[in-house]
Amino acid sequence: MSISQVVKDLKGRLDGKVAIITGGGSGIGYESSILFAREGADVVVADINLKAAELTVDRIKEKFPLHVRKHTAAYKVDVAKEEEVKKLVEFTLKEFGKLDIMFNNAGIMHPHDDNALNTDEKVWDVTMDINLKGVWFGCKYAIEAFRRKPNKAGGVIINTASFVGFLGSATPQIAYTASKGAVISMSRELAVNHARENIRVNTLCPGPLRTPLLMDYLNTEEKKNRRLAHVPIGRFGEPIEQAQAALFLASDEASYITGTELKVDGGITAAYVTSD
Ligand code: NAD
Repeated sequence: MSISQVVKDLKGRLDGKVAIITGGGSGIGYESSILFAREGADVVVADINLKAAELTVDRIKEKFPLHVRKHTAAYKVDVAKEEEVKKLVEFTLKEFGKLDIMFNNAGIMHPHDDNALNTDEKVWDVTMDINLKGVWFGCKYAIEAFRRKPNKAGGVIINTASFVGFLGSATPQIAYTASKGAVISMSRELAVNHARENIRVNTLCPGPLRTPLLMDYLNTEEKKNRRLAHVPIGRFGEPIEQAQAALFLASDEASYITGTELKVDGGITAAYVTSD
């Protein structure tokens, strides 16, 4: 085998790509930042928690010391604020020269999210502002950045939704559920609107995961088991399992995939009963 073949084989699945990952300080965003970097992408780790984003960047540098990672950066952003998202994309274009992948992953589940009668309007608004409007802003400025690239090179958008975009939960979380359903619908429309510009838009739909977002909410064994009864695989998912799916959607291997929802959910959305 020639040296050039060996070098070619060592190429990562995202070599030469520039990615923004929101919520990169924890959970899915953390694992995706590391995985995307491992696969050769320059990653802007964006999070409202700058310290957490910086720790992710430190981890990338620690894990891949042999790579020339001159272009991995932490960036503080509140995705609910349009001006901040605009500046995040401007920063990326200035420092990295282009944007290829926008992973709109940041999201919250408010502890006081409840049913239609008990949910305070403020809880609804903050959930929509981050989970839905934040994703819209990310898409908007990513599309603008993709359009500036030569030769209609386009780009990839991945929006994190949830299995609850497909299922009603008897344990209510009405704002969260509504926000995730809307992310799925919005992403489909964006995919259709921008497909001819070589822009792909898909949603990642995780099942229940062992990350702070859910574990802080399911804070007793009883609450955890109540959920696990509905998961055919019988365990919570791991953030890395979502990152691997996001990597596929971000890579050229998914070049004919747009407007779809990738459910990485341990079978929960397929289940009627989970055991006999
Ligand atoms: P996580 O809480 O571990 O990480 C979320 C990250 O987003 C944190 O670092 C947080 O600081 C950041 N963030 C929160 N608000 C922000 C804002 N306004 N601007 C920028 N960053 C902000 O959560 P996770 O489990 O990794 O969740 C990531 C995504 O996956 C979310 O959209 C979530 O709704 C979705 N999801 C999670 C689960 C689950 O079970 N954990 C299931 C389905 C979908």
